[in-house]
Amino acid sequence: MNSNLWIEETFKDFLGLKFKVEKVLFSGKSEFQTVDVVETKGHGKMLLNDGLIMVTERDEFAYHDMISHVPLFVHPSPKNVLIIGGGDGGTAREVLRHSNVEKCTMVEIDSMVVDACRAHIPQTAKDLDHEKLTLIIGDGVEFVKNTTEKFDVIIVDSTDPIGPAQPLFGEAFYQDVYHCLSDDGIVVSQGESSWYAMDIQQSLLKVLNVVFPQTYLYSFSNLTYPGGLWSFTFATKKHHPTKDFNAERVESSGLSFDYYNAALHSAAFALPSFAIKGLQGLIDND
Ligand code: SAM
Repeated sequence: MNSNLWIEETFKDFLGLKFKVEKVLFSGKSEFQTVDVVETKGHGKMLLNDGLIMVTERDEFAYHDMISHVPLFVHPSPKNVLIIGGGDGGTAREVLRHSNVEKCTMVEIDSMVVDACRAHIPQTAKDLDHEKLTLIIGDGVEFVKNTTEKFDVIIVDSTDPIGPAQPLFGEAFYQDVYHCLSDDGIVVSQGESSWYAMDIQQSLLKVLNVVFPQTYLYSFSNLTYPGGLWSFTFATKKHHPTKDFNAERVESSGLSFDYYNAALHSAAFALPSFAIKGLQGLIDND
């Protein structure tokens, strides 16, 4: 253990986020990326892929609440759910809390991420053996191309558009996603930051607009990603993310949350003006 050890995530060539590390728990290199799990002083255990922070125990609930409960409370009856990526298990954990979900399939390309989180971050990985979960180690791009199943909700819980995640931001992938969604299906995807990565948001939203009739963006606060304000895209065949949201369903679900709530659900779709201007024409504002 080195008491002076800090980890720094650098972003572009002008920003660095530093975290005090107490202990390195796992370091490996898979065929896709480096995978590290460290115990930090202020944020609990942290997973990094290729040196980029994926989750920390302190704030993972914000990301996982918002990527899963928003579409699952909009879709009137989400029975069959697909997660692409999400190897830490946090998204699956939240999806599986919904009693109307009968089956959840998770397709993660890198077994090293899953194994490292099972061993060191049970907080997110604790439901990876759930009876309703089918965990497939494979490429999400190939999975949506080849599956004959129809999903009510698809959640793209991916890394940034580098390496194997690059196609997850492209049109061919979303054409396949469209075809394996049910007639009233919804896809929510990791949508980067309006502060530092609006170019990626614009390009993802352009793709979603080509494929889906309605496309939205909603945001949440994340402690450990550059800029703090992070987002998810919401592309839908039918259901409107706020007009078709029934707040009473949240209460009657009996679920309790540390980040998500019914008021925040609708508020999250209200974007700051600089984001509205920068994403003009790319998000529906009805
Ligand atoms: N919350 C995280 C974030 O935005 O920083 C993402 C979490 S999760 C760890 C992302 C996962 O997507 C990674 O484990 C990565 O291996 C996986 N992934 C990347 N490309 C993939 C692909 N083509 N198919 C399936 N999983 C993929």
